[in-house]
Amino acid sequence: MIQGRVLLLNGGTWEPLTVITIPRAINLILSGKAVVVEQSGRFLRTVRSQFPVPSVIALRRFINVPRRHASWSRPGVLARDEYTCIYCGARIGDVVRGKRLTRRDLTVDHILPQSRGGKNTWSNTACACFACNHRKGDRLPGEAGMKLRWEPKTPRTSYLVVEMGSGPDSWRRYIEISTP
Ligand SMILES: [Zn+2]
Repeated sequence: MIQGRVLLLNGGTWEPLTVITIPRAINLILSGKAVVVEQSGRFLRTVRSQFPVPSVIALRRFINVPRRHASWSRPGVLARDEYTCIYCGARIGDVVRGKRLTRRDLTVDHILPQSRGGKNTWSNTACACFACNHRKGDRLPGEAGMKLRWEPKTPRTSYLVVEMGSGPDSWRRYIEISTP
């Protein structure tokens, strides 16, 4: 069995879908479901013939795939919110209570506090400055008389980048590099 992986692109959009094995890729090509986009330069030899091993293939038809989402992390929340406090709008460099904000003064706030069952999810967490986080404490924003300036949402990201980052150079032009 020949070792290696093949990048599978969606039909029409050439958006990366996933990484598959070489036998599966060859199967998709032989069954007419996919076309070769890039060759690997290697060959799969059988008794009767040899078959060029692809590096990138694309489906003939577009398939609808739900986008996967980035997994939650504290740095991810701060980056998503661009280091801006969801309650007062303060950013790095702004002066809050006589203190110039640095990255360390921006914290991850749980909108429904963890002490009350709030979870580490994209929609329950947001960037908050130390002053707002302290003022809110273990309360809901409404209880503390505070308002969210925006609705925290789950960011869209190309989750495949991590997996594909270890792939061959021939994949790179098909992979959208975006920071979550
Ligand atoms: Zn604030």
